[in-house]
Amino acid sequence: MRFSQLLIPTTKDAPSDAVLPSHIFLTRAGYIQSVGSGLYNYLPLGKRVLDNIRQVVKEELDKASCQEVELSFVTPSALWSESGRLEKYGKELLRLKDRKNNDFVLGPTHEEMMVNLVRQTVKSYKQLPINLYQIKTKFRDEIRPRFGLMRGREFLMKDGYSFAKDEEGMRADFDNMERTYSRIFERLGLDYRIVEADSGAIGGSGSKEFMVIADSGEDTIVVCDSCEYGANIEAAKRKAVVCAEEEPEMNPGNFLTKDISTIEALSAFFHIDPYYILKTVAKKALYDEGVTKVVLFALRGSDELEETKACNAVNANELLDITENELVDAGLVAGYMAPIALPDDIVVVYDEALKDAKNMISGANKKDYHYIGFNTTGYDGAFYDIVAVQAGDGCPRCSGTLKHTKGIEVGHIFQLGTQYSAPLKAEFLDENGKSQPFVMGTYGIGVSRLLAAIIEQNHDEKGCIWTKESTPFAVHIIISNIKDDSQREMGEKLYKELVDKGVSVLLDDRKERFGFKIKDYELIGIPTAIVIGKKLVDDKVEIIARDGLVKSEIDSSEILDVILRSI
Ligand code: ATP
Ligand code: MG
Repeated sequence: MRFSQLLIPTTKDAPSDAVLPSHIFLTRAGYIQSVGSGLYNYLPLGKRVLDNIRQVVKEELDKASCQEVELSFVTPSALWSESGRLEKYGKELLRLKDRKNNDFVLGPTHEEMMVNLVRQTVKSYKQLPINLYQIKTKFRDEIRPRFGLMRGREFLMKDGYSFAKDEEGMRADFDNMERTYSRIFERLGLDYRIVEADSGAIGGSGSKEFMVIADSGEDTIVVCDSCEYGANIEAAKRKAVVCAEEEPEMNPGNFLTKDISTIEALSAFFHIDPYYILKTVAKKALYDEGVTKVVLFALRGSDELEETKACNAVNANELLDITENELVDAGLVAGYMAPIALPDDIVVVYDEALKDAKNMISGANKKDYHYIGFNTTGYDGAFYDIVAVQAGDGCPRCSGTLKHTKGIEVGHIFQLGTQYSAPLKAEFLDENGKSQPFVMGTYGIGVSRLLAAIIEQNHDEKGCIWTKESTPFAVHIIISNIKDDSQREMGEKLYKELVDKGVSVLLDDRKERFGFKIKDYELIGIPTAIVIGKKLVDDKVEIIARDGLVKSEIDSSEILDVILRSI
């Protein structure tokens, strides 16, 4: 296509709120245009990249026997009530009414809709397994839309759902999707890692995320320095921590600790390792219909609370911070809290590392006092893994050490079991003629987020550097001086020859200065450029590899072959 005819509004100005290279360059190079918070238009170049990504996703899914469908974006609220998510989803769900006062929500994901489709059409085990997907707009009224396409409110997602007759079938579908997703991200040229992910209140290990490694990623991932172990911090495990310091001995009782209320201060005061001090974190757990409960999370003073794990432990929709006044109302004293002698309506959750803990120092639930000799021996209450794995902790799988890195979540695969099929009564007849709920998996890819993720990993200070399968054009021909007949003719001829061979080419045929065109080329980021310039009088043209801006001179008679071989 001809630059002179395309709408590619490149600009020097970055959006004022843009901090990430992908947001800056995709806007400056004319790929996308902001319409409002978390809402974007795709201009011709952006649409081409989006379609390329969509194509790679589709090809690999179709090869893996998945079937593409397209479901209504506006979804009846009644289905969301059936699954119980109408309440749980909270404010991310955009709710609307039609002229007849019927309730709808704009689909943020389509589990309910797909289960509804399948419960009406699939009746027998003979039709299973089945894997249906769509590549379709989603809407989530995100609390903090930001980073351009990374976290939009309206965005493009591939969402797929597998239906099997039993758990074994579901695991086979899940493994199939793990392999398929790996192929997709490899074809897109991404450096990614598969990590164990939070599976919500369901628990289990049937949830994995595909993380593009990038400093700008919003997710913290924990990786081992010597084996393949990787997990989102929300799900990461560690080898049990042992304290170098011996367990202190103490006579149980309250101890005056006036104005000593932090772990550090207590540790210094008692000369004991924070490992032997009980940390008590109070939160407000939010449930359906606005119901809240005060929860105390108890962990070792050397550990930090991981909020997603903590939220799952109490099966809440969300954990909220608690105010000083609410603490007082609950009968608690900030700085001196402890999970002992509490009113009945306060929930207590212990970290697993506190099982059979003895001789610890905890609060005394009394201003200026701590209790020494706290123990959990014989206590059979709620123990959950609620700690945030730290850099330097031991790997749960090998003798390696864990470290933190940042990742962009581009895909998520999840074993659902009958979480949706059971409440929605989506059933099939098994071999014995008995009704059974479908055993499901759900699989997402952030198609529009991938545009941003590719650029986060592939850019320099001048602009984008697209990967082979994502680039809007394979080749960018720059005619240096359009008024020079021989340059123009050579450019046009090469353009025609490449297009005839099925290569996608952007021909910069504009009446602009060469320097201006090169700047646009660097910003737009097509992997290979051919510059037809002054050296043409010596029958030479230049090839530029965008990655590293590596230049080489080629005989103009050889250029077609060289390009066809290299792309
Ligand atoms: P996140 O933790 O980033 O909010 P999520 O867990 O809510 O993601 P899923 O519900 O698993 O995401 O959605 C599937 C995929 O859709 C994600 O892996 C991500 O790539 C993409 N995605 C989710 N939310 C957004 C968004 N607001 N903008 C763009 N892409 C998104
Ligand atoms: Mg989200």
